[in-house]
Amino acid sequence: MKLIDIVVPCYNEEEVLPMFIEETNKVISTISDYRFRYIFVNDGSKDKTLDILRTFASRFINVKYISFSRNFGKESAMYAGLEHSTGDYVIIMDADLQHPPKMFPQMIQGIQEGNDCCALYRAKQKGESKIRQFVSKIFFSFQNKISDVKMPDGAVDFRIMSRKMVDSIIKLSEVQRFSKGIFCWVGFKTKWIEYENVERPAGETKWSIISLFKYALDGITSFSVAPLRFIAILGFIISFLTFLYIIITLIQTLCFGIDVPGYVTTLCATLFLGGIIEMSVGVLGEYIGRVYIETKRRPIYIESESNFDDM
Ligand code: UDP
Ligand code: MG
Repeated sequence: MKLIDIVVPCYNEEEVLPMFIEETNKVISTISDYRFRYIFVNDGSKDKTLDILRTFASRFINVKYISFSRNFGKESAMYAGLEHSTGDYVIIMDADLQHPPKMFPQMIQGIQEGNDCCALYRAKQKGESKIRQFVSKIFFSFQNKISDVKMPDGAVDFRIMSRKMVDSIIKLSEVQRFSKGIFCWVGFKTKWIEYENVERPAGETKWSIISLFKYALDGITSFSVAPLRFIAILGFIISFLTFLYIIITLIQTLCFGIDVPGYVTTLCATLFLGGIIEMSVGVLGEYIGRVYIETKRRPIYIESESNFDDM
């Protein structure tokens, strides 16, 4: 019987984990053609998440867990889960039941239809604030326009993937990971299915607007150099316009004599160009910063405990 690993990143999820395993166990008990194994990744939680995972591991034989030495972020947690997986297929899902396990049969069907991956996107963003919905919409349309990786609006990290797809994802060992992009970048036949987002039954979201903004910026800079091209083109356009302006002024001066221009024009030009230069340096800095962090080749996560070696 084929094995499906379920990778679940957890950060401060003590309130929802018991509900999660109960709900998910209910669903997997109805699927008899596959074996399931959980791979929980405790991403440096400050609450009792690790204790709960230890209890799960002692109660259920199909529960494995890895615990990080500190909080490394969901991207690192997903990577650790994928790296430890050995199943024929791997499901990635959130611990908060916002990725409903009742979608498993449909996802597995997607795989049985001959796809390497069956991924989900949100139909309705129930349980999400208006600002988040707005930011998310802008992000997806911008990301799709300027980078090579294309994904539907509302794509989430809830998916099932074949072994060979997981193996190729693990090979992409960049430290600053943007999995949504990586999943698309590796290719493979992917079927997208829609699901209805639900509210968190307990606990709270770990994302603030600022961290979402950072995440979006990561997404854009990891899969596209369009911003760098944009500043180059902007520089070219400004130089061209300035050149035209010089010619016009020259003709004016030669034909109509010298007039004394106001300081406003000079001030505006200086400030405007100052702003553009500042922005361009910022964009360059963003990429250089990424290169700097990446060249250190630090590990994606540090494990402090796991039950993978236990018999
Ligand atoms: N998560 C994690 N590390 C973090 C933040 C979140 O492993 O630093 C996990 C979290 O436990 C959950 C999933 O990532 O299983 C999604 O987090 P959350 O529900 O807070 O995000 P949202 O659904 O609001 O996008
Ligand atoms: Mg959530």
